[in-house]
Amino acid sequence: QFATPSRPIPVVEAPEVPLVTGGSVRYANFDHAASTPCLRAAADAVAELLPRYASVHRGAGYLSAECTRAYESARRTIARFVNARPDDAIVFTRNTTDSLNLLARALPEDATVIAFDSEHHANLLPWKRLIRLPAPDSASTAVRSVDDALKVVANDGPVLVAVTGASNVTGELFPIAEITVLAHRYGARVALDAAQLVPHRTVDVTALGVDYIAFSGHKLYAPFGTGVLIGRSDWLDAAPPYLAGGGASAHVGDATNDVRWQTGAARHEGGSPNVVGAVALAAVCETLEQADRAALTAWEETLRTRLADGLAAVAGVRQLHVFGADSPRVGTVAFTVDGYPADLVAAVLSAEHGIGVRDGLFCAHPLTRRLLTEAGVAPTHSVGAGCGTDGRPQRVATAVRASIGLGTDIDDVDRLIAAVERLATEGPRWNYSLVDGRPGP
Ligand code: PMP
Repeated sequence: QFATPSRPIPVVEAPEVPLVTGGSVRYANFDHAASTPCLRAAADAVAELLPRYASVHRGAGYLSAECTRAYESARRTIARFVNARPDDAIVFTRNTTDSLNLLARALPEDATVIAFDSEHHANLLPWKRLIRLPAPDSASTAVRSVDDALKVVANDGPVLVAVTGASNVTGELFPIAEITVLAHRYGARVALDAAQLVPHRTVDVTALGVDYIAFSGHKLYAPFGTGVLIGRSDWLDAAPPYLAGGGASAHVGDATNDVRWQTGAARHEGGSPNVVGAVALAAVCETLEQADRAALTAWEETLRTRLADGLAAVAGVRQLHVFGADSPRVGTVAFTVDGYPADLVAAVLSAEHGIGVRDGLFCAHPLTRRLLTEAGVAPTHSVGAGCGTDGRPQRVATAVRASIGLGTDIDDVDRLIAAVERLATEGPRWNYSLVDGRPGP
């Protein structure tokens, strides 16, 4: 009775995994927010390229020329996928972390960055002159608090507002469009961390108006090792090259300081690039462009609400929210189970049920700590998940995160709900001991 998408997008098949209680089961991947399984189209593109690849840009051979074309064509495809402006720089990086570090190094010396405490560490730690705003408790608070900060710093030089499209902890959508309109009113720029947004929603850089966007291939159904930074080229062209070396330099003279750097993407792509990754990511973008993304989003929402409602019906389960249970979000659910540390919950789900989730603070420590405190989760809930100032393991509260993607079906969701319910009512079926500081079978 569920309106499954009429044109599902195939990902590589999930493997059978062994259960500690005996037998095996199809792996149910609920860790899409960390990395997604490869799209079939991306795997096919890689298989096709492997026998034919050669170094790009500097080779005269047939395969070099072919690969250079494929690499540059991938760049255009990815730019089109997010509807980048014609004059945006499209720089290939390793991942979102790399993209945001590149942008941080390219900012003018006197630039101030404004970011919420709720950001992933990749969008907090690279920034030098950073104003950290408290994690907002509603979309309108978010806009107001950026407004207040902009009032203070707008006249002190260039300003960048760095904000996520969707929380990697709770999946909640941030009011990007409103923040961008506001920032531009003050002459500030906006960098969108789209690592969690692009896999779930169509993103139109031109329509949104964000000045920069960063995302990762491995969260978008392509293999590891490829990300992008797309955006305004002026600061990027004025900055020192991110990776000095061949490809980034246009001329190297005999004197040590006689170097002229490239402009455009090449300036920051020193060294031999990851052509295979770029081509795979472009294959994903082409596939998604042709898909009915509205139908996919609706389907994901069906799965997410089924999961959230199913978990809500289990006594002792608490779900985490930044803005509130009803705020719009992508298919990510963060929760705890009373009486069971999050790392034990994750171990039970894996070992007894073949379900892969993630536990911890999700590289968003300030936010997750706050949400756990607000949810009343005891700090003794888990062991070893953080390091005290003395370097010894510390008792902290942590959470479980289940994230949905193109490989998820109704059956997976029901398996997860049933598994959590069983744990909450009957406890673990196995005696778990600590293996490398984590519960293991
Ligand atoms: N930003 C967000 C919102 C993320 O979820 C992640 C990955 N968890 C990152 C940045 C960093 O991505 P990567 O590890 O691919 O660099």
